Amino acid sequence: MRPPIPPDFLARMHTLLGDDYPAFAQSYDAPGVVGLRVNTLKIAPVDFNRIAPFTLMPAGEWDAAAFHLIPSITNTPITNTPLPPGKHPYHWAGLYYLQEPSAMVVGALMRPQPGEWVLDLSAAPGGKSTHLAALMGDKGLLVSNEIDRGRAHILADNLARWGTYNSLITNDTPEKLAQTWGAIFDRVLVDAPCSGEGMFRRQGGFAWSESIIQACARRQKGILAAAADLVRPGGRLVYATCTFAPEEDEQVIAHFLAQRPEFSLIAHPHWAGLSPGHPDWADGQPELSQTVRLWPHRFMGEGHFVAVMEREAPGREPSVVNQPKRRPFKTNNFIPNEWRGFAGQTLAVDFPAEQFHFAGNKLYLLPEQAIDTGKLRLVRYGLLLGELNKGVFKPAHPLALALSKGEVNAVLDFPAAAGQITAYLAGHDFPADGPDGWVLVTVDGYGLGWGKRVRGRVKNHYPHPWRQR
Ligand code: SAM
Repeated sequence: MRPPIPPDFLARMHTLLGDDYPAFAQSYDAPGVVGLRVNTLKIAPVDFNRIAPFTLMPAGEWDAAAFHLIPSITNTPITNTPLPPGKHPYHWAGLYYLQEPSAMVVGALMRPQPGEWVLDLSAAPGGKSTHLAALMGDKGLLVSNEIDRGRAHILADNLARWGTYNSLITNDTPEKLAQTWGAIFDRVLVDAPCSGEGMFRRQGGFAWSESIIQACARRQKGILAAAADLVRPGGRLVYATCTFAPEEDEQVIAHFLAQRPEFSLIAHPHWAGLSPGHPDWADGQPELSQTVRLWPHRFMGEGHFVAVMEREAPGREPSVVNQPKRRPFKTNNFIPNEWRGFAGQTLAVDFPAEQFHFAGNKLYLLPEQAIDTGKLRLVRYGLLLGELNKGVFKPAHPLALALSKGEVNAVLDFPAAAGQITAYLAGHDFPADGPDGWVLVTVDGYGLGWGKRVRGRVKNHYPHPWRQR
C-alpha cells in the first residue's frame, strides 16, 4: 500500500496556496499523469503516431514529440497490445521515453541548440538528458553527469537505447567537473535532488519532513554554485526541481542571484499551464516571477519548478578574463583489423577514422567534438562499438541501438508482434536462413540487438540484464 500524503505537507500547502488550495488538494483524487516522449533522433512524431500501439494525445504546444498516454485522463486501457508501454519492443528499441509531462517542460524551456556544448549535471536516470540529446539533434556535445555510480550505469543504458553518438557520461561531483573544465558550456542543467513533493500523487507520501526540505535546500545551493562555474559568459543555467517547497525553489534562486549577480533570470514563454514563481515566498525580488511553477491543478502533470538564467555576455563581466579553453581529447585513432573485418561484412555505413579510440579491449567512436576529461571518472565516452577478445571482435549493444535497418547489410527485421521478437527479447536463439555472421535484429526497421547466425540458427546476443523473461 502507498504511504498516505503527510498531513503536515498538506497543511503547509494550504497556508501557501490559500484560495487555490482546494483545487490543488483535489488534484490528488485524479490518477497520476503518464507521458511519452518520442525519440526524434530515430522517428518523427507523426510516423510514431502511425505505428504506436498506444493512444496518444499531444501534451502541449512546447514540444511536438511530447504526448500524454490517454488512460491517465479517461481510465481506458493504455494499449491495444497486451504489453505495457515500458515493456513494448519499441521501448527496447529506444523509440520513446516514458516521462511525466512537467519534467518534459524543463528541456523545452532550456531549448539547447544543435552544435552547442550542454551539461546535464545530475542526469540519472536520463529523462532530461534524452530530451536534450533529441532537441540538439545529437549535434555538438552532451555531457551527462551522475554522482551515484549505480544510477550512472542506468543513465548509460537509457542513453544507449536513445542511440546517441555525441555524448559523454561522467560519474563525478559537480565541484570536480567545475575544477576540471571551468566555464565552457553553452547550457548547464541542474535537475536537483529534492524532497520530491511532486511525486506524492503517483508514489504516495514517502519520507517527508521540514528538516529534509532544509537539508535538500543546503545541498541544492552547493550544486548550483558549482554549476554556475561551468557556464560560459553569455550561456544559460537552468535549475529545476520536482518539489513545491519554496525553500528549495524560489528561495534557492533568490540566494543564488544574491551571490552571483552576473546571472539574471530570463522571461519564460506564455505556454498554457505555466504559472509564475512567487517572489513573496522568497526575498520579494519581483524578477522571481520569471521562474516557472507547474502545478498539478493547472497543468496536466505532477508538478515542477524551473528557473532559466543567463550569464552576462563576454566583455561585460570583468572577472572572466581568462576564459578556460575547450581542450580536445587526444584520441589514439587506433582501428583494429578485426573491426575492419566486422564492419566490411556487416555495416553499410562508414564512421570517421579520426573519431576512433581504442582503450583496454574496447573500441569507441568518440563524439565529433571530444573534450579532454582530465581525471574525471568516466562511464562512457561516445558510442561503444565493441570489444576485442583474443583476436575476435564482438559488436556492442549500444552500436546495435544506434543503427537502423538501412545502415546494416545483414538484418533480420520483424514486426513488433512477431514471435521472433518475443523470442529474441527473452534471450532465446531462433532459426533464420542466410549466410553465417553477425546480424542486426530490428523491430519494424529499428535496431534491437545483435545475433550471430551459424548454419541457419541465430545465436542470441541480447545482453543478459535486458532479457524479458
Ligand atoms: N535529471 C534526471 C532525469 O530527468 O531523469 C533526474 C535527476 S534526480 C531529480 C536528481 C539526481 O541528482 C539523482 O540522480 C541524484 O543521484 C543526483 N544527486 C544527488 N546528490 C547530488 C549532488 N550532490 N550533486 C549532483 N547530483 C546529485
